[in-house]
Amino acid sequence: MAIVEFKSDSEYQDWIKNNSNCFVVNTTKKHPRKFVLHTSICHHITSYISLAPGVFTERNHDKFGSSDINKLKEFFKENGFPKFEGEFTICKSCNPHQ
Ligand SMILES: [Zn+2]
Repeated sequence: MAIVEFKSDSEYQDWIKNNSNCFVVNTTKKHPRKFVLHTSICHHITSYISLAPGVFTERNHDKFGSSDINKLKEFFKENGFPKFEGEFTICKSCNPHQ
């Protein structure tokens, strides 16, 4: 599966609904330096409770999805993320691995 760069929260929500055993990397739009890997069902990146509309992808954060962790790593290495050092920060709640 190619890397999906979500442009809107509605696109993102559709994708996580239909790709429940994939992975999502969460980072910031401005000067991204933290890259947190989650499963696509992790409550940190799926629950809208008490969050503002657009909070997942349209405000301060960007998300990228794929079924393949290594493809995600390649993507960040090759696409202008100078602070990406080759490994993701692993979410302690969902503990993603392949
Ligand atoms: Zn998580």
